[in-house]
Amino acid sequence: MNGHPEARARRDYILEQKRGFGRRVIGVFPAYYPRELLLSMNILPVEIWDPPLESSHANAHLQSYICSVVKQGLELILQGKCRDLDAFLFPHTCDSIQNLASIVNDYLGIEKPCYFFYHPKAPYKESSRWYYIKQLEDLALRLEKQFGPLNHHEFKKKVEQGEDLRRTIGELYRRRAEGTLGLSNVEFYRILRQVEYLHPDDFLPVLTAILKRPPDRKSKGLAVIVSGILPNPPEVLEHLDRLGINVADDDFLSCSRRLLARPAISTVPFEAMADSYFGMQPCCTKGSAIEDRLKSILDKAKSSSAKGVIFQMVKFCEPELFDVPILVEGLKAEGLATLVIDTELNQGMSGQLVTRLEAFAEMIG
Ligand code: SF4
Repeated sequence: MNGHPEARARRDYILEQKRGFGRRVIGVFPAYYPRELLLSMNILPVEIWDPPLESSHANAHLQSYICSVVKQGLELILQGKCRDLDAFLFPHTCDSIQNLASIVNDYLGIEKPCYFFYHPKAPYKESSRWYYIKQLEDLALRLEKQFGPLNHHEFKKKVEQGEDLRRTIGELYRRRAEGTLGLSNVEFYRILRQVEYLHPDDFLPVLTAILKRPPDRKSKGLAVIVSGILPNPPEVLEHLDRLGINVADDDFLSCSRRLLARPAISTVPFEAMADSYFGMQPCCTKGSAIEDRLKSILDKAKSSSAKGVIFQMVKFCEPELFDVPILVEGLKAEGLATLVIDTELNQGMSGQLVTRLEAFAEMIG
């Protein structure tokens, strides 16, 4: 992985953060976790979604029908490429991540602490908020044993910065949907995905500089919404750029589903974090009702004048597999074109995939 330019950039950044700021680093598996809590303890979260590796060791530990997010994550550990990390964090996203957490913590004999985070799932009850805050407090107590006491002043600052970041990302999405951002599909996600490892002190200025550029009012091209877990394989975006199709909004778990939220009401840090968590858009990994997710995608399509929705599925992703057939039916009933593609991470573009994207472009053109 370290030979890959993106992986090299991440590793250099991690080392710089350790040396320059005395930061500790936690490898975080998808998807929802209290980023601001970690940052306030001078811990840099580095997310593990789709490391670009040849899978050689992980298969021996996993069933053949597991998603490649889990497979690639385990491969990263087994190839010894997590040496610079001080610990791992496993949020309770799905059975597959749960299974991975158990393999890493209980069976691999890895000499690194593993933390678990059990966030509440829908349908939410009155007690869900209380439960979420208890989980945050409990995680803070466990982290304190390894990383030192939580500084409440710093925590408040990081929660405010998190709000600022969500607001700024929201503006980036708004400008893209109205067609004035001036970034290609590839550029948009290359920049946005730096959130997975950059400290907000470094990431926010990148976004602010983009938003300060004068609006680009070139033709928007054909607009679509893209849904799924994450924008991988990235070649799909390249091909959409080539076809003149503009991703006007998304419903990716790694992007809008967790990076955007209604503004927090409370200014008390744990309460504000709960406001954000419960103010995010619907998601299959949080047990949201499919009708809510359908409405959320339809709203995005309406406000960005999108002609269709592409579901970029990770093969064997169970939570998505439950939702997608019903979403497709609902979107079609509203007159939107749909395309479902099912890929492994980093698999590149097959000839068949190219043909299907081109046929979809013709259909909505
Ligand atoms: S791709 Fe799907 S099954 Fe795999 S870790 Fe993500 S949510 Fe879980």
